[in-house]
Amino acid sequence: MTIWLASGNKHKLQEISAVLADSGIKNDIDINLPAEAGITGFDPKETGTTFAENALIKARALHCLLKGAQVNNSGPVLADDSGLCVDILEGKPGIYSARYYGKESWNSDGSFCESTGSGKLRDEERNILLLEELKTRQSAEERLRKCRFVCAMVLFFGPDRFYLVQETLEGEIVSSPAEIRGQGGFGYDPIVYLPELGRTVAELSEDKKNRYSHRGKAGRLIVKLLTGSLFV
Ligand code: IMP
Repeated sequence: MTIWLASGNKHKLQEISAVLADSGIKNDIDINLPAEAGITGFDPKETGTTFAENALIKARALHCLLKGAQVNNSGPVLADDSGLCVDILEGKPGIYSARYYGKESWNSDGSFCESTGSGKLRDEERNILLLEELKTRQSAEERLRKCRFVCAMVLFFGPDRFYLVQETLEGEIVSSPAEIRGQGGFGYDPIVYLPELGRTVAELSEDKKNRYSHRGKAGRLIVKLLTGSLFV
């Protein structure tokens, strides 16, 4: 079976491929990127208000393009939308995680300010901005540093048939730049500390991150769908 991945993010591709490989079904499945159907610059506007809506927007968009490209090798589309939700920031940056550029990201009514951000920040800069935004909040209470990575993942066969799962990885935002640690992973990994493991996500091996992560858990649920009686 061919699965089309509605993403250009190489980190996500690597993590999702590893989950499939671990499950033993990698040999039965080809994961293709949009470029393999001649679709370049795949980047649909994420206009949803939830991770699940945005995952579906990506899935629908690629499904439509593949239909238009009359790809012979058709198969379901796999799309995900993910991000970091911080309790003290009322769940922000959330669905705006990839576009977050600090406390200026929000209008006074709490909505996202589309026009201000450069959108070209490096992960390291974004992480510092998030720590600075947390500092502007008065309370340093431990429970308010709580955060979670969220991943909504959809296996999309068509507008009327799809399977959507959503998973989390619970952690805490480190309390100062001096506690930023680790070289692995991507994005917010170095500032998310996992008390249970005594490490930041960026300090985990790829294998271990996949075992605990929001994307790993969601991916394994999709694998269960793929290997279960649903598709026999
Ligand atoms: P998406 O490509 O629209 O789903 O945006 C996801 C964004 O959320 C990424 O660009 C990261 O900033 C953040 N994110 C999602 N998953 C992870 C993760 O596993 N580690 C670190 N950051 C993540």
